[in-house]
Amino acid sequence: MMDDFNIGLSNGFGDVKTLIDFNNALRAVVELHYPSGIFCRGCGMNEEYNEPAQLLPCPTILAIEKAISG
Ligand SMILES: [Zn+2]
Repeated sequence: MMDDFNIGLSNGFGDVKTLIDFNNALRAVVELHYPSGIFCRGCGMNEEYNEPAQLLPCPTILAIEKAISG
């Protein structure tokens, strides 16, 4: 069914299923790095204070935004 996306698109725009897979992978990463107040939950906890250790936007989100904005 997903392969139906590619029918008629073999014109240099690439493999649509691959693009969708990348999009889903990226979404999974972004969903891991969800905000908790001013902190990122996905970047791990500060063991000493038992709270998220990384302020938003975290390096993961910044790297994604940089890549998207070119
Ligand atoms: Zn993060």
